[in-house]
Amino acid sequence: MRGSIRLFKVFGISINIHVTFLLILALFFWGGLKSAVLIIGVFTLVTLHELCHSLVAKRFGVQVTDITLLPIGGVASMARMPEKPLQEFLIALAGPLFNLAVIVALYLPMQAIFGRGFLRYPLSIETWPLTAVYIYKINFFLAVFNLIPAFPMDGGRLLRSVLAQKLGFYRATKIAVSLGHLFALVFAFFGIVVRFNILWIAIAFFIYIAASSEEAQVDIKETLKKVRVRDILSRDFLKLTSDMTLKKVLETMFHSRQEDFPVVDGGRMTGFVTRQDIMNSIHQFGMEKSVSDIMRKDFPALSETDKLGAVQELMHDKGMTALPVMKDGQVIGIVTFEDIGRAYTILARRF
Ligand SMILES: [Zn+2]
Repeated sequence: MRGSIRLFKVFGISINIHVTFLLILALFFWGGLKSAVLIIGVFTLVTLHELCHSLVAKRFGVQVTDITLLPIGGVASMARMPEKPLQEFLIALAGPLFNLAVIVALYLPMQAIFGRGFLRYPLSIETWPLTAVYIYKINFFLAVFNLIPAFPMDGGRLLRSVLAQKLGFYRATKIAVSLGHLFALVFAFFGIVVRFNILWIAIAFFIYIAASSEEAQVDIKETLKKVRVRDILSRDFLKLTSDMTLKKVLETMFHSRQEDFPVVDGGRMTGFVTRQDIMNSIHQFGMEKSVSDIMRKDFPALSETDKLGAVQELMHDKGMTALPVMKDGQVIGIVTFEDIGRAYTILARRF
């Protein structure tokens, strides 16, 4: 995330802190040592909560690059949420479960130190015992608050995964997003009308935007499922031969608007080069190399009947922005990432 500073790295996940969060921290340090301990305690709990989500996600093969601490909480950035409902359920559950586990595990020790009535202590940082109990009680808040079914918060994700079992991923997301929007409006109402509170407004804003972005993602997927390669395939394209120099290739790119090419020698497809391949080798070796030096020999090929949703995922997984389309052993066209984007823009109702 922009504007964040890395604190340290754990389990291959970097823990970042956003600059806006530093302001809050400064404000609390201003309030004295107990106030600083409180805020550090709270955000240690938030970090561990996010880390629990992340470790379960990693077990299911989801890449987690970083956890960023914002004034409104922590955000773990995951490459792609699994579409398997049970996996999403367990990932979402891990965070609140951590806070509940802390409550249970520390209950007796807290009682031994602070006495039987410690749960009735007021939320205050006047003395050190009060501060310690305050931090302990934050776990209740984190568990309950995150379990509110305001998608994409944990409770909303749990709800979607349960709905997805019956209704499928798309319908379940639509319902969860509507609930997320509704909760965002309720939070905003409380933060603006009932009692002015900038934190509630920020949370409302964050939930609204995040729910909308999740909705856009499933809309794209759903739309692209209905379109096949043959529906968008342009059969008018240029081919290269493997003995062409990169200088010639660059000329071809300038004269046509094509940037990715199949390589065909004697009527047979022998390789494929993408714009990135061409640019990378020119940058590294200059114009002297020939197509055969830089072409990919191992690449997936599409068929006319493939659905665009699957094509997009394949490109994402292979890190390629274009793929050739084959029929009866002959290349009949190319589909690029831009082609898919254009098809979506035309088909989508929401733009
Ligand atoms: Zn969570």
